[in-house]
Amino acid sequence: MSREHVFNFSAGPSVLPESVLRQAQKDLMDYQGCGMSVMEMSHRSKAFQEIFDAAKAKFKKAMKVPDTHEVLFLQGGGTLQFAMVPMNLIEGGTADYAVTGNFSGKAAKEAKKYGTVHLAADTTPTGHDRIPTQAELQLSQDAKYFYYCSNNTIYGTEWQYVPETAAPLVCDMSSDILTRPVDVSRYGLIFAGAQKNMAPAGLTVVVIDKSLAGRELPITPEIMSYQTMIDKDSMLNTPPCWCIYMLSLVLDWLESQGGVAGMEQLKRARAQKLYDYLDESDLFIARALPGSRSDMNVTFRTPSEALDAEFVKGAAERGLLNVKGHRISGGMRASLYNAMPMEGVDALLSYMKDFEVKHHV
Ligand SMILES: *Cc1c(COP(=O)(O)O)cnc(C)c1O
Repeated sequence: MSREHVFNFSAGPSVLPESVLRQAQKDLMDYQGCGMSVMEMSHRSKAFQEIFDAAKAKFKKAMKVPDTHEVLFLQGGGTLQFAMVPMNLIEGGTADYAVTGNFSGKAAKEAKKYGTVHLAADTTPTGHDRIPTQAELQLSQDAKYFYYCSNNTIYGTEWQYVPETAAPLVCDMSSDILTRPVDVSRYGLIFAGAQKNMAPAGLTVVVIDKSLAGRELPITPEIMSYQTMIDKDSMLNTPPCWCIYMLSLVLDWLESQGGVAGMEQLKRARAQKLYDYLDESDLFIARALPGSRSDMNVTFRTPSEALDAEFVKGAAERGLLNVKGHRISGGMRASLYNAMPMEGVDALLSYMKDFEVKHHV
């Protein structure tokens, strides 16, 4: 099956804009007359430093990052941040965690090694089908930070508001970064693995309020200290050079599409089409509750696992790839990141309608 006959709904690593891949292909053997690819050049070279600085500047511009905050290009995925956040910010005290899905649950579990975790909310009992309201959040008095995950990639829920807390906000935006405007000044720290919406796997972007850095526990490895990485401009050691270059290309593409404001309009429109149909369908059932639904990962199922499997198989035959849900939530999941065109949603919708006609009893 060739690329032009496929829509890739993978939850991550996921689809990248075609123009970005073409530019990378063009630059692959010889980056701008350097006689080598970006993968082969020293990270201390002038050519790479320019790529690095440009990527950072473009990211800051796209997210409107204020001067109070620093942008770091790290490795270790979102998962390393589950440990880095408490090691650097908890100071042996208490942190509030809102557990609304798999990844925030993992983050809370990791944080317990370094301090006291207070569950400000936990939607485990209802299968993470919704996001708690502000009134439901149980905030502790002396929290060092409040941690949440803005989009739950597996369960398909997304925070529709920014929590109001006295403690600094720490947010895992791995699966919805660059999809809407964010007031960065309201956050102590934002992190996101690149492979959902920004670049290939291997890069993690961190945006940190510089006044929060420098409080790491003495056991913190040097490479896991935000202060060190700020001081070294993310180059304590070799950064993920290729991924940073790819991020730079993606940010050019993003700007040509109207930036994060343009992405926000598109994301709403894409997801709304699917939810409208799911709500009127007699066969398909949306997983997440209205008011909490994710624009990025639309999760749904049929009444039977056998039918789910048939749906996924038939989808793949039509070039609608990777619509199988995560193993822990089951059912189906359509991931609609920035590079997913509306045509992909239309093709999926048309298949769902055919499937319902065929299977409705
Ligand atoms: C994918 C994902 C992670 C884990 O990212 P890794 O890069 O695999 O460590 C963490 N949080 C969210 C919200 C994710 O979607």
